[in-house]
Amino acid sequence: MKRQIPIARPVLGSEEEEAVRKVLQSGMLVQAQKVKSFEGAFADYIGVEHAVAVTNGTIALDLALKALNLSPRDEVIVPAFSFVATANCVLFQGAKPVFADIDVNEKITARARAIIPVHMFGQPARMDPLKEIAHDHKLFLIEDAAQSHGAEYNGHKTGSLGDIGCFSFYATKNMTTGEGGMITTNNRELAQKVRLLRDHGQTEKYHHTILGYNYRMTELSAAIGLVQLKKLDELNETRIKNATMLNAGIANLHGLTPPYVDESSRHVFYQYVVRVEDDYPLERDQLADHLKEMGIGTAVHYPMPIYKQPAYRELGYDKTSCPVTEESCRRVLSLPVHPSVSEKEIQYIIAKLRAHSFA
Ligand SMILES: *Cc1c(COP(=O)(O)O)cnc(C)c1O
Repeated sequence: MKRQIPIARPVLGSEEEEAVRKVLQSGMLVQAQKVKSFEGAFADYIGVEHAVAVTNGTIALDLALKALNLSPRDEVIVPAFSFVATANCVLFQGAKPVFADIDVNEKITARARAIIPVHMFGQPARMDPLKEIAHDHKLFLIEDAAQSHGAEYNGHKTGSLGDIGCFSFYATKNMTTGEGGMITTNNRELAQKVRLLRDHGQTEKYHHTILGYNYRMTELSAAIGLVQLKKLDELNETRIKNATMLNAGIANLHGLTPPYVDESSRHVFYQYVVRVEDDYPLERDQLADHLKEMGIGTAVHYPMPIYKQPAYRELGYDKTSCPVTEESCRRVLSLPVHPSVSEKEIQYIIAKLRAHSFA
């Protein structure tokens, strides 16, 4: 039988099944004790005072920005190289996303209100220089930590490094609740605000202090999340071990650049992303096709800068240019690194990256 190695697969077992069964038997299905426990456990794990569970990572970003009361003239600096939700949340507020390639400083104008660094692929962004910039210009620092559960920068967890952290528990992420999200912060006021926004602006039942939504998490999701959180460190260790094996395997292959890992950080490899350089025998898309034939799933995270998406071109971003992002979009390829990939499968992947396997 042909080998099939998918690019992602959640690790779910009998513990999650049992947790979900218990919730079903309890009859309490939405935002009750399990959600509360999950929020408490997640806040402790990240090392923050407050955690607020929501329906997904996009909504976590949405509410975090909403809590800042942006006005249409305000600007928020976001990376051009990320998942589209990082920038969409700015548009949802009617404010303007300003795309940074690498340098954030040159993008700051008097209208800037916030910066959203993304801890891409599980590698924490360099937060110290960003904190300095945010401090100097009085900007909010919102971490998009949707790909970095358990990642650390100078010994501190992502999601505890800025004013607000936003997590996703989508099925492919380092831990999952199916769909789900979490907002983390040490700022009591912001936490209070997002709690209200999440639940109809209710301070008590049927007393609506502000205009709010229904972005609550279900008890089923929270029950899964509690189990996944317990497993997270172990799951991340397996990702790191797989990444280390992949690194060793491609170290002497010409034309493949392994992912960058900063010395001051713990990279948790949501994705293992290589760059396919000009001196590799195949182009990026040819390599993806070859691996697919060999039963190895890959993905391109991400094929174009956010400003080149049709939805953004229409808004007048067609003149934006971020050359480093554009080159990365042409060269990156994600290889399977998730915890279900076995050591044998890693060796198989490495073998299929060698030129003599192309014929
Ligand atoms: C997954 C992801 C999101 C959105 O999370 P959802 O739970 O899918 O809505 C936002 N930003 C980044 C960088 C992501 O990877």
